[in-house]
Amino acid sequence: MRHATIFRYSIPFSGGAVLRDAQPKTRDGLILRLTEDRREGWGEAAPLPKFSRESLAQAETDLRNAAQRWLEYAAPPEDSCPSAAFASSCAQAELDGVLPEARATRGALLCDGDLDTFIARLRASSNIALAKLKIGRDTPEREGERINLLLSMFPYLRLRLDANRVFTLDEARRFAQKIALPFRARIDFIEEPCVDSLTSLAFAQETAIAIAWDESARETGFVVQAVSGVAAIVVKPTLTGSIAHCRALCDAARRQKLSAVISSSIESTLGLTQLARLAAWLTPETPHGLDTAHLLGTQVLRRWRDCETPKLDIDDLEERWRA
Ligand SMILES: [Mg+2]
Repeated sequence: MRHATIFRYSIPFSGGAVLRDAQPKTRDGLILRLTEDRREGWGEAAPLPKFSRESLAQAETDLRNAAQRWLEYAAPPEDSCPSAAFASSCAQAELDGVLPEARATRGALLCDGDLDTFIARLRASSNIALAKLKIGRDTPEREGERINLLLSMFPYLRLRLDANRVFTLDEARRFAQKIALPFRARIDFIEEPCVDSLTSLAFAQETAIAIAWDESARETGFVVQAVSGVAAIVVKPTLTGSIAHCRALCDAARRQKLSAVISSSIESTLGLTQLARLAAWLTPETPHGLDTAHLLGTQVLRRWRDCETPKLDIDDLEERWRA
């Protein structure tokens, strides 16, 4: 016998600085549970406001639709929005036992806005080798000086930076000029430095600072391709779609000798732990971008390593639908 249930959560969110401009107070999402005989599988659909194209209501409709089809032993719908496609593929993969249990533990430490707090965090954990920072909120010169300072303070630190397309070419150049030449090789990449991909490529080629595709990798017609100056693509399953779709992207990146970085869209710890399992499975050689559990006030169903916040269990979730 097959059963499906959809739950909803709404948990305190304090990551406004990570979500450019958007300052929501809660993070809301849906959880799908599929059960068949004694096996069960879980998945999470949590569209990220301002980043996802679909609303939570759309995700709920699509998730219910996918669950209904599963109950009828029909093939999954092909037109599910990305978050619902990701959720139902995770639930299915857990149920079928094809999502390996091992979680990748190696990832980049995320700076959630305040540099002094971040520096304290880096000092407290002597073995941190990789960190991620958002840039592009201050003048390019001051941003560049800050990154330069960080690299000089921590001689073994490597950085991933993310500009979310805010720089003009001139601003990106002014940013780069503040970074001492020997330090530039310790920037693994800047995600989407400039307003469009051609400008970002021009920046990479003239500054010798590599770039990565994030937003561009989700645009229609995007092809994973080795291009001089491009180091990686960022894969955010909640914004991308099913496990199969994400796996195809990671495989294509590997063939092109690019890194694929499995990254968070600030899912609850249920989704995050599944992403850590995906990272161990699909990109074992690449540190992930999943350091977002501390932005949420509560964990959901499964615990994130080293995260001390309280955890919600099934009974704490709102049941939305059951069949
Ligand atoms: Mg990004």
